[in-house]
Amino acid sequence: MNPDQNRRQCIACGESEPSFIHTVSKNGVFRRLCTDCLLKEHRELFCPVCLVAFVDVPPPNARIICLDCSSITHLACSPPPSSSSSFTCPPCSDPNFSFFPKSHLPSSDQIGENVETPLDTESGKALLAAAEIAVVSMNNAVAQLKNEAVKKILDAKMAKMRAKEALANLQDLVVRQKASENNDNPSKRKNSDR
Ligand SMILES: [Zn+2]
Ligand SMILES: [Zn+2]
Ligand SMILES: [Zn+2]
Repeated sequence: MNPDQNRRQCIACGESEPSFIHTVSKNGVFRRLCTDCLLKEHRELFCPVCLVAFVDVPPPNARIICLDCSSITHLACSPPPSSSSSFTCPPCSDPNFSFFPKSHLPSSDQIGENVETPLDTESGKALLAAAEIAVVSMNNAVAQLKNEAVKKILDAKMAKMRAKEALANLQDLVVRQKASENNDNPSKRKNSDR
């Protein structure tokens, strides 16, 4: 299979041509996700109500965590506190909930109709949050790759040093052995001379 063939396919929902595709890194593995799937896979990184990606996770007294998943909602964004102990985030409350509409591309029978569906405000916010989460994820991945590269360089330097040391030890050994052989021989000769 040509890996480029499905460059624009969402790996989670399989949508082949999402209007936006994001690349994130999870444990060093790069994944392409549509906006909706990216947000649903990173629920702890944004508020599902105001659709703002967290720069810092809100402190415990300013957040409410979904009963069914890791989603964090601003306390101020959550519905009236009557249900604070039984709060579930929008996607957990409604299995059909979508942060972002699936493909805007027209299906074949719609050709000729208005092609571009303009983004509504909520979708625009969701797209922005998804893009921010993807950027942070990729920045982390780059930092991680840099760390790994630095570690590999250090490892290589260490290995080189150890090899040099081993070689030096070996040369030392050979020199000493030769020296002792040379010492032995004359002494033997001296002995035999006597
Ligand atoms: Zn998807
Ligand atoms: Zn919020
Ligand atoms: Zn939830």
